[in-house]
Amino acid sequence: MGRPAAFVRLSGCIEPCCPWCDTAYARERGRSMDLPVILEKVAALGKDLVVITGGEPFMQWKTGLAELETRLLESGYRVQYETSGKAGIPDSVKGHVVCSPKFLEQRWCFDTQYVSRVDDFKFVVVDDCEHVSNFVRTHNIPSQKVWIMPLGATRNEQLARLADTWNFCETHNFNFTPRLHTLAFNNKRGV
Ligand code: SF4
Repeated sequence: MGRPAAFVRLSGCIEPCCPWCDTAYARERGRSMDLPVILEKVAALGKDLVVITGGEPFMQWKTGLAELETRLLESGYRVQYETSGKAGIPDSVKGHVVCSPKFLEQRWCFDTQYVSRVDDFKFVVVDDCEHVSNFVRTHNIPSQKVWIMPLGATRNEQLARLADTWNFCETHNFNFTPRLHTLAFNNKRGV
């Protein structure tokens, strides 16, 4: 959080979908874009960091994303992924992987074989956070790799959960990360 970045948002996701998903438009409505066009748009933004998110970005690893990563790295960008892990994490991925596993229908939608490939975990929490601390403990994930974000698609929803989320972080020595763009711009898109 806090580093200006170019965002590439890929469409598509995998069931079960999250009831709180705030990017349903990305799950269902994508449009094709050729690699040179993406690279041109990224260059025009003038950032050194490119965040590739979704939907679920790794669904498109073999249909263009691997090549996009190669081209971005060759051009000197840092590449970071925002993934739920639902589509797995490719062995050959070179970028920084931030994974936000989803707890849905009383189970984690995440194959634990990928735990060691995740650079940082981000958990979006509501009120009951114990399943998160249990997950971290069960998989021996170092607390410095764990980031906790309050659920909330609007500024008011974020503010309402800040204190409880921070208290949870302090108790477990996790990192706290609010949604900066939501606090600053509320639910405006494209910022
Ligand atoms: S994994 Fe992400 S894109 Fe997919 S339904 Fe959940 S929040 Fe939405």
